[in-house]
Order: sequence, then C-alpha cells, then structure tokens
Amino acid sequence: MFRTAIPLGRWAGVAVRAHWSVLVVLLLITDLLASAVLPQAAPGANTPWCWITGGLTAAGFLASLLLHELSHAFVARHHGVAVKRITLWMLGGAAELEGEPATPKADLRIAVAGPLASLLIGGTALGGAVLASGTLPPLPVSGLAWLGVSNLLLAAFNLLPGAPLDGGRILRAIIWRWRGDRARAGAIADRSGQVLGAVLAVAGFAQLLLLRQFTGLWLVLLGWFLIFAAQAEFATGPLRERLGTLRVGDIMNSSPMIAPGWWTVDAFAEYAAGAGHDRVFPVLSFDGVPLGIVSLGDLAKVPADARRAIRVTDVARKDQAVPVMRVDTEVTVLMERGHFPRAGRDLVLVTRGSGLAGVVGADDLARAFELTALDHRPRATGDHKAFPQSVK
Ligand SMILES: [Zn+2]
Repeated sequence: MFRTAIPLGRWAGVAVRAHWSVLVVLLLITDLLASAVLPQAAPGANTPWCWITGGLTAAGFLASLLLHELSHAFVARHHGVAVKRITLWMLGGAAELEGEPATPKADLRIAVAGPLASLLIGGTALGGAVLASGTLPPLPVSGLAWLGVSNLLLAAFNLLPGAPLDGGRILRAIIWRWRGDRARAGAIADRSGQVLGAVLAVAGFAQLLLLRQFTGLWLVLLGWFLIFAAQAEFATGPLRERLGTLRVGDIMNSSPMIAPGWWTVDAFAEYAAGAGHDRVFPVLSFDGVPLGIVSLGDLAKVPADARRAIRVTDVARKDQAVPVMRVDTEVTVLMERGHFPRAGRDLVLVTRGSGLAGVVGADDLARAFELTALDHRPRATGDHKAFPQSVK
C-alpha cells in the first residue's frame, strides 16, 4: 500500500515518510479553507491571504498528525517496543511497531498517547484562538480555531472503539486485562472495527446520496479502509496464535543443497543440473561461513561467455538483501519483520553460532502453516550433516 512513499528523515530517532496521497490531502484542505471556511469566518478578507492562511493551516494539520504518531512511537519505545517507522498518508498516519506490547497496561498507554496528543494540540490551538481574537486579524485566528477543532475531531474519531483505530487498541487492552487472553481480545477489537467500518461507509453513502454532500465520500473511504484493515488483522491474528512459540529451527530445511562460493557459475550450474530440485541455494565460503544466497535465475543473468570465469560468490545476493535469523528465533518474529521468501527466488538463512544451520524457503513456511492448521507442530528433522556435505 505504501510502496511509493517519500522519506522525510528521522524525527527524534524515528524514520518518517509520507505517501504521495498526503499531497492530495494538503491541497484539498487548503482549497476547503481558502474557498469556503476562511471567507465565511473572515468576510472581506483578500483572496491571496486566504490561500496563504489556508496553506499554512493545512501544513499545521499535517504537523499535528505527525505529533499524534510520534506520541504513539515515544510511549511504545518507553515500553520496550521498537518503532520501525511512521508513515503519513491520505487517511492519517500509521506508526509501525516492531513487536507487540508485553502487557495490557503497555498496550493501553501506547494506544492512548496519540489521541491525548491530539486533544492537547486541539485544546491549545482553540485556547490560543480565543485569546488572540481581538488582538490578531480574523484570518489567522480562524485558521487557528479550525486547527483546534479539527484536532479535537481527530482525537474523537480515533477513539471510536474498533481496530485498527486507537479506540480499538484501547478496547483490546481492556478486554485483554479483563479476560487475560490477548488473542481473543484482539479478535473482538478487529470484529468491532469491521462493524464500525460498515456503519461509517453506510453513513457516508447516505450523506452522499440523500443529502448530496460530497464530504460523504470521505466517510465511505474511511469505512472501507477500516473494514479492509480490520479484516487483514483478523486474518493474521489466529495464525499468530497457532504458530505460538514455534522457532525457525523447527521449520527450517536443515539439509539444503549448498552453493560453494568459490566455484564458477558454470561448474555449479552443471552440478545443480543433476542434484536435487532446488532453485535457490545458500552460498558458503571455503571455510563454511554463510555468505548469502543465489538462485538459478541470478546465475542465468551472467553472460554465457563469462560463466567459466565468474564465481558464484560474485553473483550471490548478500548483506541487507538476505535475511539472517538465529535458529532459536520465533517464527512469528520472522513474519513480523516481513520475511516471506518467494518460491525459487529467496531464502532466509538460519544460523547457529557463526555457521549455517539451515534455510527457510517459501515451501518451509507454507508447510509450517499447513501442519499447524492440522494441529501438528513441525519438528526439526535432526538431520544435521556437516556443511558443505554435498560438495566434494
Ligand atoms: Zn493514533
């Protein structure tokens, strides 16, 4: 969804980026303010000043969205949950956390932090507008008042009790505390988010069709997003629970075919043609240290006349391009980091100490999902041959 986002640097150690749709929102808010709200609030104000005030107020609104998300991020970090990044987009912002809060209390505090920030900003802006009315010209006062009201509305909307809104997280934390079952609490909050989304979408359609108000479209869009996001969460919730404490070492392939890094592309292709059915391989150094991965597709990109000279290690994907996990890492952590290897293209390297213990490919992950759906736990095969076992 957010593939085309513009990086906006790091704010207090948190990476922030904006999806291009933020620009659309900036323009829409500026237009709404300059052509409708401000001329009505300050009759007789000249048009260029209306646009300048509108633009500044719209920018202020985006800044307050960012402060809302940063508040979530700071409190999460305080409770030991790392923050991956913050993304601003058309319908607000999202702070992506690296893990889950350990207790209902931490869950509640992280969720409450955002709306609390919006309430504070809204109250301050509205109070400022009241104090400044009479001293400052009506245009900036109206801009400030609009910023205040919109932040209060933002807080109120986010407190609606359905995931993935903050109110849904609060609901989850309360049920978690009350029933002691986090997975069940999460599922209830997700269901509630779907119902809320449907109600908003229907209200939006009614506004659009019966009252002929174009702003109903926003409600439809928000409702649709809520249903979609809550459904996605609902789908991953039970899976997470099913995988439980399963570790990468339990699901890995502990005897994959190895690509010796020092071999030439041609020699390895010749070898691979007659051994096994793998299409992607871990690459090892002469000393048995895992270097990266290589697929038959990667090898095929080497020009034919260079295949006898270029070595496998020169073609291998290394470093950041290849996820490496320790053998005792939980499978849910692998999923949280978004490591879903593509069949025939990617592998997760699994290490024990500095050596390779095995690999996790698309099939290994799918096998784990399917076995747990059958109420069986995949077990390590215990087939730990010394690497490189298939290379003579
Ligand atoms: Zn929030």
